[in-house]
Amino acid sequence: MITCSNPQAQYLAHQAAIDAAMRRVLESGQLIQGPAVKAFERDFAAYIGVSHAVGVASGTDALVIALRALGIGAGDEVITTAHTAVATVAAIELAGATPVFADIEPRYFTLDPRAVERAITPRTKALVPVHIYGQGADLDAFSALATRHGLRLIEDCAQAHGALHAGRRLGSVGDVGCFSCYPTKNLGALGDGGVLVTNDAELAARCRRLREYGWNETRDAVEPGLNSRLDELQAAVLGVKLAALDADNGRRQAHAREYDRRLETSSFTPPEVRAGASHVYHLYVVRARERERVLGHLREHGIAAGVHYPVPVHLQTAYRGRIAGSSALPETERAAREVLSLPMYPELPATAVDAVCNALLGAGI
Ligand SMILES: *Cc1c(COP(=O)(O)O)cnc(C)c1O
Repeated sequence: MITCSNPQAQYLAHQAAIDAAMRRVLESGQLIQGPAVKAFERDFAAYIGVSHAVGVASGTDALVIALRALGIGAGDEVITTAHTAVATVAAIELAGATPVFADIEPRYFTLDPRAVERAITPRTKALVPVHIYGQGADLDAFSALATRHGLRLIEDCAQAHGALHAGRRLGSVGDVGCFSCYPTKNLGALGDGGVLVTNDAELAARCRRLREYGWNETRDAVEPGLNSRLDELQAAVLGVKLAALDADNGRRQAHAREYDRRLETSSFTPPEVRAGASHVYHLYVVRARERERVLGHLREHGIAAGVHYPVPVHLQTAYRGRIAGSSALPETERAAREVLSLPMYPELPATAVDAVCNALLGAGI
């Protein structure tokens, strides 16, 4: 079976280095808040091009902590997209704030700044564009909107480690960038993990407090916090994988070029890359007519394609009928009907890309 993602293949590709890094942690006896977390935070901040990185337990927690550290909570509206992992929206509510949905740009599947502008009210405090599938939302427009309306800009970078916007890494443009290190993400741990980045020293210090009970340096809880630490073992794994991230993203981009080339004249619409930006293909998503039939056809050929995401957040049980903006999301709903994720991970063999293309082109659609 050719699968959409394959974190085990990534472990095997880096096995010796990962095993050695984990053994160093185990032999050091230091499992929490030790040198591996410090080193990963330093290296990740340098990689993104910001002054601070704070390791946390998940991408969801990175968003919750970022929102709380920015003072966003009860009574505050946060505009985001319903075409995302449900975690984006869950995090806004976990922080105590009120999510508001705006529609997406059909060409890129990212939040539409014009729709966002229409959704701004006097209670709006922040914008959370999601860099979905591996390329950035329109950050020039969102930065301008945030400045003009006095809003915070929080980038959900969970799918876009290493992607560029006008020469800058995603995550370095807004007030905070929030990353997930879930195993299938472009920078994945062997379990859960997350990291947030910022250039604001005070904000970073508050995030560090919030991730560990609200403790200051003398372990006085100066505000109520969470337990959301990145552990030493995961940080050690992430350190190994960070060193390989650009090369791994390059492999994803090579697969994407091949998919683009083979599907150019088909009925499937390949992903479009925004001018002046780079795409790191966390997912390679095409639009497909008769998607369910295509999925079945691929399955018959041993290919487990995916759908990200079949039910937009505003139509999921916990959110249906209660989030402002839900009635004006036609592009979000169309995307949910049409998107199809093809197998995509760095170690995917060229023969598998070929097999997927042959199966798609033979689907008779
Ligand atoms: C994966 C993901 C998250 C959540 O990350 P977790 O580490 O699973 O908590 C948030 N937003 C987006 C867009 C994601 O893809």
